[in-house]
Amino acid sequence: MNVANASVSVQDLSLSFGSVTVLKSLNLDVAEGEFVVLLGPSGCGKSTLLNCIAGLLDISDGRIFIKGKNVTWEEPADRGIGMVFQSYALYPQMTVEKNLSFGLRVAGTPKDEIDKRIARAAEILQIGPLLQRKPAALSGGQRQRVAIGRALVRDVDVFLFDEPLSNLDAKLRSELRVEIKRLHQKLANTMIYVTHDQIEAMTLADRIAVMRGGVIQQFDAPQVIYNRPVNRFVAGFLGSPGMNFLDGRLENDGGWHFVAGELKVPLASYDFEREPSPGASVFGIRPEHVGLNSGSGWPFTAQATVDVVEPMGSDTLVWLKLADQNFTVRVTSERAPQSGESVEIGFDPMRASLFDEQGNRL
Ligand code: ADP
Ligand code: MG
Repeated sequence: MNVANASVSVQDLSLSFGSVTVLKSLNLDVAEGEFVVLLGPSGCGKSTLLNCIAGLLDISDGRIFIKGKNVTWEEPADRGIGMVFQSYALYPQMTVEKNLSFGLRVAGTPKDEIDKRIARAAEILQIGPLLQRKPAALSGGQRQRVAIGRALVRDVDVFLFDEPLSNLDAKLRSELRVEIKRLHQKLANTMIYVTHDQIEAMTLADRIAVMRGGVIQQFDAPQVIYNRPVNRFVAGFLGSPGMNFLDGRLENDGGWHFVAGELKVPLASYDFEREPSPGASVFGIRPEHVGLNSGSGWPFTAQATVDVVEPMGSDTLVWLKLADQNFTVRVTSERAPQSGESVEIGFDPMRASLFDEQGNRL
């Protein structure tokens, strides 16, 4: 993708606070209409990157383009972006309607245009009945809807969200998540969304940029990141419970095998990213890609003893030991075994992720 057809293009961006470099030569291209999620642990630089795009921080080096225009030194108000923060930052003394119209009134937008945009935002966000209320009389979810509405009425090209749902309780969070997805389907404009929540990232994103220590580790579709993580950090950050990791060795005797204690997993079906060599390695497989007592259908099976069983409602998590290492299997509740029971686990090594000693995908 070149600058001309990228909606947002971040090029070689560096940012330091004093002597601390938070972002270093970072590149990110977001396509027109794309929903991109910046995902990573707290402190990895997600908000910093978003604030650079918004123009709220002066960058140390690099360039930022929005809709093909170099906006590196433009004021936030001139960048064609709307931003929604974790804290709603509504004016408490103003009604919802006044909160929505404030920016437009300041910009001198004609009254009938303001009314039209508010009516549209109110309809999209279903806040029509709340327009004459003040923020104190709204629930957290309603306040965040108004905050989104404030970005919506500005009719911008690009929406920037910084953890907009993290102040809400779990139920509201999942409701509003669906609404944001619906909003994107309806408006089809570019959205860049910061979160540390992997579920939000998986459910919302066209592409996820997984960040760590100010560096984008992988930028790809959720399914690719889930199925082919480029390193152990990305593999461990997505999925709940996380991917199983077994420490062991790669050996080649008439074909590649992963060996850990008694365990010897043939890797004939594994799609190596690069030429492997014998030595220490980590074998990763997700709990949902392992079967339990399911007969002879698996290319690889092994015996194990069940340690702990955790019913989750629709699924059950089974914790056991494999080659003396912790291992989790997710099964439907009807198939759940008892603690202490001897079981057969099975999987297809094709679904696995192998990593070298440095944690990079093999
Ligand atoms: P995230 O949003 O991923 O949680 P941030 O972008 O807020 O992370 O912060 C990235 C790093 O930059 C953190 O180590 C944080 O302490 C540091 N940082 C953020 N803002 C400032 C600031 N104004 N001055 C100094 N350091 C900062
Ligand atoms: Mg942040």
